[in-house]
Amino acid sequence: MKLALLSDVHGNLEALDAVLADVTASGAGAIACLGDFVGYGASPNECVARLRPRVEAAVLGNHDAAALGRLTLGRFHSDAATTARWTDEHLAPEHREWLGSLPMTVAWHGHRIVHATPSDPEEWHYVLSIEDARYEFSAFAERACFIGHSHSPGVFGTDGGAVTYARSARVALEPGIRYIVNVGSVGQPRDGDARAAWLLYDEEHDTVEHRRVEYDIERASARIRDAGLPAFLAERLKWGE
Ligand code: ZN
Repeated sequence: MKLALLSDVHGNLEALDAVLADVTASGAGAIACLGDFVGYGASPNECVARLRPRVEAAVLGNHDAAALGRLTLGRFHSDAATTARWTDEHLAPEHREWLGSLPMTVAWHGHRIVHATPSDPEEWHYVLSIEDARYEFSAFAERACFIGHSHSPGVFGTDGGAVTYARSARVALEPGIRYIVNVGSVGQPRDGDARAAWLLYDEEHDTVEHRRVEYDIERASARIRDAGLPAFLAERLKWGE
């Protein structure tokens, strides 16, 4: 089967709809969402409503936790704190309840999924370096762990010795190698490519593909400005930074 892994949607409905169309076109048979459904973007309710009936598995992100009042906002920079408060005020009770029921980490189709790190999911650390990845490989039993959080798609691999890192769009997985795969961000890419990102894992061919999708950035930005959210959050969507 082909599996779709989506993360860091961040209330960006235009990006999410473009990605869901690409997911359908790809032939993926199941979808997992790796957290941060909300925060930054102006369409938190619409995004949760789109995803709830479609995802087979989902985990909680730090921005979801913040919007639910579970995270001290002192750890957020000011724009993130502002949108967390705004999302807290605007999130519908049924979506709040659903987000509140999500686990921190779960096994899905034999793979581990988590928003931040498998070693300590509630500390919201980042896996940014070879050293970070080396530490995390000892924290899950499955062959592969799919993560989000940094908004930077990439693939760490190890045979138990050296850890490698690849940023190619498509990576053929190898027998005997374990992987930590960052699936990138649907709603706020930060790797210099403004297109929405998601990951397609083809189990039969054992390949992962970082897919990128054009979407209506102007419209998503306008929604952020119209909601009275920080203008920087509207601007950065255009840069993909
Ligand atoms: Zn995020």
